[in-house]
Amino acid sequence: MQEKQRQFSSYIKGLLPLKCPRCQKGDIFAGFLTMHHYCPYCRTQFEREHGYFTASIYIGYGIYMAIFFPIFVVLMIIESSIYGWMGFFLAMALFIPFIFRYSRGLWLYIDEWLNPRDKEQKSSRYE
Ligand SMILES: [Zn+2]
Repeated sequence: MQEKQRQFSSYIKGLLPLKCPRCQKGDIFAGFLTMHHYCPYCRTQFEREHGYFTASIYIGYGIYMAIFFPIFVVLMIIESSIYGWMGFFLAMALFIPFIFRYSRGLWLYIDEWLNPRDKEQKSSRYE
């Protein structure tokens, strides 16, 4: 149980700055929207298979809805002016790249938690 809690806290520490889910040292992203194929520190391959990040789309949608649906409801209830709606849609557009980054990072961490790579990649780690 304590090991699981330690693992969870290390996952949170690695996820917030978007570090590798395996070593929590190498960056997941090479640029703002460009990902590394392999961790620059431990050489873990991020994209395990073709279409691997499809699940991150659903995570991104969930994050998006969790943030913006309550704001949408509040704007509907208070019958916001056109400027309120413009600000809402502008904020939605500005959040897209951040949600993209964190949905992919979160998917990497969830997948690492459910299916750790230690067993799978020990032999092919330094190809
Ligand atoms: Zn790593």
